[in-house]
Amino acid sequence: MAETTDPAGNADGFETRAIHAGQDPEQVTGAVITPIFQTSTYAQPSPGDHTGYEYSRTDNPTRTALQEALANLEGARYGYAFASGLAAEDTVLRSLRAGDHVVLGNDAYGGTFRLISQVVTRAGITWSAADLTDPSALEANWNPATKIVWMETPTNPLLTVFDIGAIAEVTHRHGAKLVVDNTFASPYLQQPLTLGGDLVIHSTTKYIGGHSDVVGGFAATNDQEWAEDIKYLQNAVGAVPAPMDCFLVLRGLKTLGVRMDRHVANAELIVEMLLAHPAVSHVLYPGLDDHPGAAIAARQMRAPGGMISFRVHAGLEAAKSVTTRTRLFTLAESLGGIESLIEHPGVMTHASAAGSPLEVPDDLVRLSVGIETGDDLVADLNQALDQI
Ligand SMILES: *Cc1c(COP(=O)(O)O)cnc(C)c1O
Repeated sequence: MAETTDPAGNADGFETRAIHAGQDPEQVTGAVITPIFQTSTYAQPSPGDHTGYEYSRTDNPTRTALQEALANLEGARYGYAFASGLAAEDTVLRSLRAGDHVVLGNDAYGGTFRLISQVVTRAGITWSAADLTDPSALEANWNPATKIVWMETPTNPLLTVFDIGAIAEVTHRHGAKLVVDNTFASPYLQQPLTLGGDLVIHSTTKYIGGHSDVVGGFAATNDQEWAEDIKYLQNAVGAVPAPMDCFLVLRGLKTLGVRMDRHVANAELIVEMLLAHPAVSHVLYPGLDDHPGAAIAARQMRAPGGMISFRVHAGLEAAKSVTTRTRLFTLAESLGGIESLIEHPGVMTHASAAGSPLEVPDDLVRLSVGIETGDDLVADLNQALDQI
């Protein structure tokens, strides 16, 4: 696929860094793979004289390796791992104060919407939704209390593409910070900090972990002051990942590049079939020429990704019915794993957005295309669509 060198200026290519960054052999035994440091505490020769590790809420060597590797891949100087994507988001949002305002892109992960609209508001923080496809509208409606603009791209589940650089420009002109949730793209396809973002968020549960066997989150930035606050909050709030979970995410990370290439190749096969199927009314995929964000995606992403959404002519019941008629696509929430998943966002992942500006169409089906044999996936989905 496309080039693998890093826009942030690292000499080694992406796959090399995914395997080696922060992952030198362990010093005592020479263990090549970073061990699971399953310990809560660390011996000190004399009071306050420690190795850099005092207590595993504060720091743990397996977590350190994961943080260094992921920060490197995002072109970040600072990175922090969390117990889940939402734990990372919550910790970052705790850097705000009562009276501050958050602008949220009008298509976002349902849990992010719930956190910002229902939970963070309890601390006196306000929010509004914005259509970020038009950065000049963001400019025109700017609220002086806005401290953070929070976006995903491509978005979940509508696969809308927002221009990170253009939104960063408006945000920075007003002295606010831009947070980019990079979960759908992964750092292999897109590195928001090199495009103007101030902080990047991941649910490592998805493509980075990649095997649907661990829940985790990550936040990275080059903003030293913000990083110090997040490090402080990570320890003070304590939403940290266990050593075993850090190990699993780090293990998944090593193959991110080769997995993403296959996710994309399979997604392109499926898009072709969906476009030709009479039951399908719309195919939402940033790699399509007629996708409104295609040009932006081509500029800011290495490839359009492994997520596809589509709408069916026959409406809600037909959309729900397709999700129960596949053999290989498992009906389940989540995404980004080696296995293909299918879901109905309106009823499942995005039920909390019903009646809000983030509501999704009820004839929408979302696919997370796995890395199985592409033709098998095409045939499976095709027969399910034939039945409606
Ligand atoms: C899953 C997801 C999250 C939340 O992450 P968890 O690990 O489930 O807490 C946030 N953003 C996006 C885009 C997601 O897909």
